[in-house]
Amino acid sequence: MTTWKDIKDGLCEVREHDRSGVYPAMGRSYYNINCPFCGVSTRGYVWSIGGGKRCPGCKAMHDSIGQTHKLRRTVSAPRPRTS
Ligand SMILES: [Zn+2]
Repeated sequence: MTTWKDIKDGLCEVREHDRSGVYPAMGRSYYNINCPFCGVSTRGYVWSIGGGKRCPGCKAMHDSIGQTHKLRRTVSAPRPRTS
């Protein structure tokens, strides 16, 4: 579970995410955010995204400036061989 402390401490991998804004005439504007780590899309309301929006798929944190942060130790990557 990525937290803001992890982000500040530099423990996270950062990737740019794709998002598109939806601005209904009535109601609250939001973004559709595609997670660059797991591909799950989620909806982040414009009024609340300043506090971050958590990915429901991998628990990475989408921020308000178009980046997604994920704890490095939870990123699946091939391990170097130690033989
Ligand atoms: Zn994700």
